[in-house]
Amino acid sequence: MKTVNDFNFKDKKALVRVDFNVPQSADLKVTDNSRIVAVKPTIEKILNDGGCVILMTHLGRPKGKVSEEFSLENIIPEIEKVFGKKVQFCPDCMGEDAKNMTGCLKPGEILLLENLRFYEEEEEGNVEFAEKLSKYGDAFVNDAFGTAHRAHASTAVIAQFFPNTKFFGLLMAKELRAIDKVLKDGEKPVTAILGGSKVSSKITIIENMLPAVDNLIIGGGMAFTFVKALGGQIGNSLVEEDKLRLALEILEKAKAQNVKVHLPIDSVIADEFSNDAEIKEVDVYDIPEGWMGLDAGKKTQLMNHDVIMNSKTILWNGPVGVFEMPNFSAGTVALGDSIAEATELGAFSLVGGGDSVAFVKQFGYEDKVSYVSTGGGAMLESLEGKELPGVKAIND
Ligand code: AMP
Repeated sequence: MKTVNDFNFKDKKALVRVDFNVPQSADLKVTDNSRIVAVKPTIEKILNDGGCVILMTHLGRPKGKVSEEFSLENIIPEIEKVFGKKVQFCPDCMGEDAKNMTGCLKPGEILLLENLRFYEEEEEGNVEFAEKLSKYGDAFVNDAFGTAHRAHASTAVIAQFFPNTKFFGLLMAKELRAIDKVLKDGEKPVTAILGGSKVSSKITIIENMLPAVDNLIIGGGMAFTFVKALGGQIGNSLVEEDKLRLALEILEKAKAQNVKVHLPIDSVIADEFSNDAEIKEVDVYDIPEGWMGLDAGKKTQLMNHDVIMNSKTILWNGPVGVFEMPNFSAGTVALGDSIAEATELGAFSLVGGGDSVAFVKQFGYEDKVSYVSTGGGAMLESLEGKELPGVKAIND
């Protein structure tokens, strides 16, 4: 894997694709700067070598139209705060201004180009657009893991114009190593915990992970499709009726590959989908009509704890209950605690994709696990075994 650490950027202009698609408040202030913080090591490495940095990113979905709402000028103060440096701004990523401003950039300086998606060509993966961008720099660095699953002009197509000077940024390298640590060279036993609402959105992940894992913990709403397929009474719990057969097939495949599947034993059930609902804890195979399972019960929590404490590598994707409602968050909190404990004792833990990342941040587990992925969709596609276009373009 060729990273920025394999090159000396002295007197070079580095064209760095980052993912500064950050959340903003109504008055367009940045509300979570993690994506900016995450690329700081890459930027510092280039500047410390004596190079300069031209930052390229998208923000939101302007769909080829210029709009103030999606202008990157709004996020400059936050970037300057994080980097502790002045950041110049070019109000167009194409045209004379961009040519002149990138041409005049001196070692140690940072320039941010306006939103790439103000041009439709970016998402179309247009080659001429990518070539024009490529003229601004001597080297191309991709540190936009969150966008690596897109074959856009600035994330993939552009790399062909830098056959010998294209590199992964340090964030991208960290994300890819974390995935390899789980899927390729994870210390055994390897355990994947998959939760969330739907089996259908996780099938490809499950199938791709089976050869790599020893244990598969299935929790959350998607577990009920498995329980029903096995003959359980699940009341009004979430279920995908058209996936019952598939659930049984997955269990058979897992058995054939010596993967131990751990389904819930008990469930916290409610008489309506509300934090104020009446609550009981019952056997997961025996949920009365009119009631629905919304969290993992105590026996399930203990079982999960045992499996996790006996694991050396852990992947977690998806909550095991409706953690957004306080009365149904205990199962996911217990799971977070178990993963944190195993991590403290030396296990490697990766939290990736969607709602489990939100949970980890909201409930303060970020520093208690080994790695929290910054790329939702890109992480999910990696776990599905797909080669990301942004990664392939650098590797080719
Ligand atoms: P996903 O986006 O598929 O990872 O699903 C995440 C969502 O699953 C979260 O919003 C949870 O509230 C929801 N979820 C977890 N467990 C259950 C459950 N037992 N019933 C319904 N929804 C659930």
